[in-house]
Amino acid sequence: MRHPSYDLVVIGSGPAGQKAALSAAKLGKRVAVVEREHQVGGVCIHTGTIPSKAIREAVLHLTGLRERSVYGDGYAVKQRITMQDLLYRCRHVVRTEVDVIRSQMARNNVTMFFGDAMFVDAHTVRVIRDDEATELKAQHVLIAVGTEPARPPSVPFVPGRVIDSNELLDLSELPRSIIIVGGGVIGTEYACMLAAVGVRVTLVESRPRLLEFVDDEIAESLQFRMRDMGVRLRVGESVAKIELANDGLAVEATLESNKSLRAETLLYTIGRQGATERINLAAAGLAADQRGRLKVNECYQTDVPHIYAAGDVIGFPALAATSMEQGRLASGHMFQQLAEPASPLFPYGIYTIPEISMVGQSEQALTKDGTRYEVGIARYRETARGLLIADPNGLLKLLFHPESRRLLGVHVIGTGATELIHIGQTVMAAGLPLDYFVESVFNYPTLAECYKVAALDGINRTKPHRASQPAPAVENKAA
Ligand SMILES: Cc1cc2nc3c(=O)[nH]c(=O)nc-3n(C[C@H](O)[C@H](O)[C@H](O)COP(=O)(O)OP(=O)(O)OC[C@H]3O[C@@H](n4cnc5c(N)ncnc54)[C@H](O)[C@@H]3O)c2cc1C
Repeated sequence: MRHPSYDLVVIGSGPAGQKAALSAAKLGKRVAVVEREHQVGGVCIHTGTIPSKAIREAVLHLTGLRERSVYGDGYAVKQRITMQDLLYRCRHVVRTEVDVIRSQMARNNVTMFFGDAMFVDAHTVRVIRDDEATELKAQHVLIAVGTEPARPPSVPFVPGRVIDSNELLDLSELPRSIIIVGGGVIGTEYACMLAAVGVRVTLVESRPRLLEFVDDEIAESLQFRMRDMGVRLRVGESVAKIELANDGLAVEATLESNKSLRAETLLYTIGRQGATERINLAAAGLAADQRGRLKVNECYQTDVPHIYAAGDVIGFPALAATSMEQGRLASGHMFQQLAEPASPLFPYGIYTIPEISMVGQSEQALTKDGTRYEVGIARYRETARGLLIADPNGLLKLLFHPESRRLLGVHVIGTGATELIHIGQTVMAAGLPLDYFVESVFNYPTLAECYKVAALDGINRTKPHRASQPAPAVENKAA
């Protein structure tokens, strides 16, 4: 058993762990990262963000979905799409990303240990691999172990039949029908992808609508589009019982309302659990909450000041980009590097079909707060680019204060939403008024013009209408 010592030992090589390790290494610190899987990258690269987005790209390409409003409903690049078709692109991207991370770690002299990490005491981390154990002495520790899908005992998980989101990637064939339990981000994204390739999808969500944190109008638009793609939505319904049927060849879900649903496969996506159970937190003087998550202060320190935690294990917002930033900030704090606190203005990207993105407040949040706001809307079809890419239903919505005209929120549904949002994010962060969009010149033809169209629409809505005269015409074209 060796006892090498490090300035920082990071547990977990996902986005939070990577960025913390690299930032510390760049300061000349001795850094080790422990990873229990055989490859670096975390959930982000192997089972979460990258695989699901690679599958989505494959779905969009192979189904020709984006082109159908131009070439007709029968248009497709490939007629019978298989699971192998969907995973082909995924394997290539994962391999490349792993190589990039591995070489970044090596270039920055970060030492990698592969094995299960657990605390021996607050300054010692044991790494166990097969029968071998190595103990690492650490001046600081960052816990970046992420989360795992929750697997409640009441759900009879069976490979291929009743599965979690990790196991979806192990399917050898696409099922003909699927029940997805949970209308959060993961459940809703997979519902769209599977419906697009012809799987009969039923999505069950106990809340009155999908994606409760998304602006009402955007979520309603998504639900309409999903139904149009053939997804059966069972919102406001909870699953009471899940059991195998037809000699294990099918699965049946009984709802609280006594409805019964049957499909070839059931994907359970409710809840994720912090992966802290096996790291012996008690030996370090720490404890997790019921969902395995750790509490940290604004500098990402746990109750034991030299032990930090970042990424999904600390809970909301549980995104790859915010995890990276938290890792970087935690590292900066432990080695006394002054760093700005993370901006609360982070964007949210949801890769449904169509995709959704948002930054700032939603209409319902502003209404609840009693904040006065006005709305400006642009539909993609009002821009030449929207027509060129055949996405007439895309929509960009600006929420702004009617007097100061400062932006309060930006919401987009449609092609490129997750890229388009960053313009709004930048304008909000700079504190610029809506007039910025009106006065700026945007490339033509682009979807960015939607900002100008929406700003003009919003400004027109703030103009008082005179009773004796007709209301001024809404100038709703950017050109
Ligand atoms: C299906 C799905 C889709 C997603 N899509 C998106 C998306 O589109 N955009 C987005 O921003 N986010 C997305 N996410 C979320 C994103 O993947 C996470 O926010 C991100 O991976 C969290 O990073 P992390 O560093 O906290 O941990 P993780 O990426 O979870 O990595 C944690 C690492 O710690 C390791 N580990 C755990 N315990 C130990 C131990 N005891 N010893 C050693 N190593 C250990 C694990 O093996 C893992 O490699 C998605 C997640 C899922 C599940």
